Amino acid sequence: MKLELREGSTAMKTMTCKQLGGPCDLALQGETADEVIKAQDKHLRDAVAGGDQSHQDALNDMKGRWKHPIAGMSWYRGAKRDFAALPEV
Ligand SMILES: [Zn+2]
Repeated sequence: MKLELREGSTAMKTMTCKQLGGPCDLALQGETADEVIKAQDKHLRDAVAGGDQSHQDALNDMKGRWKHPIAGMSWYRGAKRDFAALPEV
C-alpha cells in the first residue's frame, strides 16, 4: 500500500545527464532524487543499446554503483544533495 500525496505539492525537479556523471545535456525529471537516478540509469541503458558509445563509461559506473552500494554511496549522497539543492520548478 502506498500513500500518494498529490495536491500540487509534488514538484518536479530536473537534473541533466551530465550532472549525474553522463556525457550529454539531456534533462531528466523526477519528484525525488531516486526517480531522477533511475531515469538516468534507463537513459544510459537506452543510449548504449542504441549504439551510443559515449554513454558506455557512465553506464559502467552506474552498474558498478548498483553492484557496490557502499562504494557508490558517496556518489549517491552527492546526487541526492545536488537534487535537494535544486530550485523547485
Ligand atoms: Zn546522456
